[in-house]
Amino acid sequence: MITNKIEKLVKVLSEKGISDVRVLQAMLEIPRHEFLDGVFDAQAYEDMSLPIGHKQTISQPFIVARMTELLISETAFVDRPLGEVLEIGAGCGYQTAVLSKICRKVFAIERIEQLCAVAKKNLKKLNINNFEIKYGDGYEGWKIEKKFDGILCAAAAPLVPKKLKQQLNIGAKLVCPVGDQENQKLMTVKRISKEGFEEELVENVLFVPMLEGVD
Ligand code: SAH
Repeated sequence: MITNKIEKLVKVLSEKGISDVRVLQAMLEIPRHEFLDGVFDAQAYEDMSLPIGHKQTISQPFIVARMTELLISETAFVDRPLGEVLEIGAGCGYQTAVLSKICRKVFAIERIEQLCAVAKKNLKKLNINNFEIKYGDGYEGWKIEKKFDGILCAAAAPLVPKKLKQQLNIGAKLVCPVGDQENQKLMTVKRISKEGFEEELVENVLFVPMLEGVD
């Protein structure tokens, strides 16, 4: 049964240190196999990243949970603690789906056009409608002048992209892996005033690189 498999995965995540029940609940609600090709069905509920084509991967569930947990760590303990959230690197849409459960609306950018279509299809299949996915370069941010209550990057940038910092509401946080393929750290940036940002290095990670431009 799929439910048992998801429950097992969520138990693993909690044993590995994910403690925010809002995140664990959101993960429980998302069937990860729906985001993968049939060939990977057997591994869909293992805590590992897997190929999704176009030389990209679906993120490891632990990292999806960890980033979501960091994003909402200082918010009020309510069902949907965030309003509008921006995700860079939608891939197959799995992280987008998890975010859709903890915020009012997710805006996501993906630089591979075919993956935009895959993500939209996967999310619709699960009746998730509080999202918008755009084909484009995440370094540019969401093109329309807009501010977000949280920003999450699912690919590693050499430095935190400036345009993304500018799209944070005051008090909002950005979670982004920073570094190259040898040395990467998860970083959080909190906007404390118009010009003031508080940065924190969290832990070592390994993400695919955030590339400039579109495919
Ligand atoms: N969020 C996905 C992770 C996908 S892997 C999940 O839940 O599994 C990271 C994704 O970032 C890839 O699909 C890649 O194409 C995309 N990406 C890399 N650089 C980007 C950029 N500059 N703008 C938008 N997407 C980017």
